[in-house]
Amino acid sequence: MGWPKGRSRWLGVLCVVRGIHGIKPARAMNTFEYPEDREYFANLLCDGDCNRLDKEFVDFFDFRHPAIKRWEFDKVRKKILQGLIEKYDGKCQLRIHADCNSDGGLEPDHIIPLSTNELNKKLRNMERTSSEKILAQSFGSNHLNNLTLACKRCNAFKKHKLLDKDIILRLLGVN
Ligand SMILES: [Zn+2]
Repeated sequence: MGWPKGRSRWLGVLCVVRGIHGIKPARAMNTFEYPEDREYFANLLCDGDCNRLDKEFVDFFDFRHPAIKRWEFDKVRKKILQGLIEKYDGKCQLRIHADCNSDGGLEPDHIIPLSTNELNKKLRNMERTSSEKILAQSFGSNHLNNLTLACKRCNAFKKHKLLDKDIILRLLGVN
């Protein structure tokens, strides 16, 4: 991913501290960086209806720096995992790997990834150079609506990818 781990963690902490003192983040929290990203998610989640995306799916997105989101998630991860295991009766909801196996351990999974470089690749054709990876963008939130239960195999298989439309809609209970 585009963010170096050690430095981004400190950047995250710095941003949180700045936030406490009321300094506004550079970009509004509900704004997509590119209009085509908003369209992409509208197509993925609500038949291309951007207004519905803004109204009904606002909980799924959080455009702050991923380090802040990860830092906040780490603090509640255990509790969230427990809640998801109870909610889904200990069963992997992703079911995207041929050897999906809930007995091998379970993890919370962000349906819309906290960060991904998929749209930079897909929509803007960014290509990896020898020295740098393709820059990732911040998308998903830690909201419970954006979380599901995954077995380790499916979660490792998914990585930071955006899932196919039919799988996402199934996870969101839309289909
Ligand atoms: Zn699985």
